[in-house]
Amino acid sequence: MLSADQLLDALLERAHGVSETETLPVTDALGRVLAAPQTSAITVPPMDNSAMDGYAVRVADVAVAGVRLPVSQRILAGAVGQPLQPVTAARIFTGAPVPPGADAVLMQEYCEATGEDVVINAMPRLGENIRRAGEDIQAGARILAAGTRIGAAEMGLAASVGLAELPVFRRLKVACFFTGDELVTPGTPLQSGQIYNSNRYTLAGLVNGLGCELIDLGIVPDTLEATEAALARASQEADVVITSGGVSVGEADYVKAAVEKLGRVEMWKVAMKPGKPLVYGRVGNADFIGLPGNPVSAFVTFCLFVRPFLLTRMGAADVLYRAYAVQADFAWTRAGARREFLRARLQPNGKLGLFPNQSSGVLTSCAWADGLVDLEIGQTIAPGDWVRFIPLTELLA
Ligand code: AMP
Ligand code: MG
Repeated sequence: MLSADQLLDALLERAHGVSETETLPVTDALGRVLAAPQTSAITVPPMDNSAMDGYAVRVADVAVAGVRLPVSQRILAGAVGQPLQPVTAARIFTGAPVPPGADAVLMQEYCEATGEDVVINAMPRLGENIRRAGEDIQAGARILAAGTRIGAAEMGLAASVGLAELPVFRRLKVACFFTGDELVTPGTPLQSGQIYNSNRYTLAGLVNGLGCELIDLGIVPDTLEATEAALARASQEADVVITSGGVSVGEADYVKAAVEKLGRVEMWKVAMKPGKPLVYGRVGNADFIGLPGNPVSAFVTFCLFVRPFLLTRMGAADVLYRAYAVQADFAWTRAGARREFLRARLQPNGKLGLFPNQSSGVLTSCAWADGLVDLEIGQTIAPGDWVRFIPLTELLA
């Protein structure tokens, strides 16, 4: 059986980024992956400008606090001032260009306007409240690397250098289906023995959250024929096929057999809890990942393995989650034989609390948690111990 680290390495080795690109208006690029590095043609800010509403002065003209200077001009944002005449001040507003000759801007709170003059009540420091040309970006500088995922800040950064469009990789197509004769779609009342197909909603959120195009093939009955038919269709329509359920060794588990029949299974089973029966294979040109049916197992294995795999397939460069050392506010005395990922929550005291029921069927734990405690094989925990914590913000989207 593979360890979780071995599985992740093997998956990333097999993940090849899509090559097709398209050029989109910056706002449409949200959630996409940048296909080529972007450089700035301009300097940002383009000119020295004021960080405050106040008065632009020459420091040399203010030998002592209380100096009175005539106000020689008024410079609003968007306007261009004249060179500052010696022994005068310029009224200036945030974002307005600092006039040549001025070497400090004094906040208006330290100034007193009296008629045509201003009394400067504090000693300015050289360069005070002046935002220098190019202090953000120099002309010619690389602002975004290829493989960057475009979020709000990246869109703003691109716009700040005047870019209207961005080259991005095409959207990855991900087909999902959900095996199980017991599954019913919400909206229909449950008959005895049935449960709702919650994995469909969890996976839809996860796949859409990454910016992939979801092809939802719905519930598939527990027969080899139905599983094969769904798999054949999914593998033709999508880059990656993801399923839930039917990957254990039960008599009604046909997913692995179907993948073996239509393609090949390359990995099966990972030594972790929750989520042991995970399958990776290839069917036609598509990657296949079969997740366990248990709702917590499906969620956790998606976050830990499928997310970095899909991000790499999308062309993203930075795909691994970060873990942090956080103190436990709980005890864990049951040394496990497999690596274990516990649903935990950061408490107001800065330490981690544990969801009381860590069963792989209890989806409430995932909605409650804001991260996973990553337990090594055999690890036990006493309150106050530092543990490895993976925040869900590192794992979702
Ligand atoms: P399986 O991996 O098919 O043996 O399923 C393991 C457990 O997960 C069983 O209790 C199933 O009823 C449950 N399960 C399987 N698929 C889903 C699903 N799509 N939504 C919610 N629970 C599921
Ligand atoms: Mg099943």
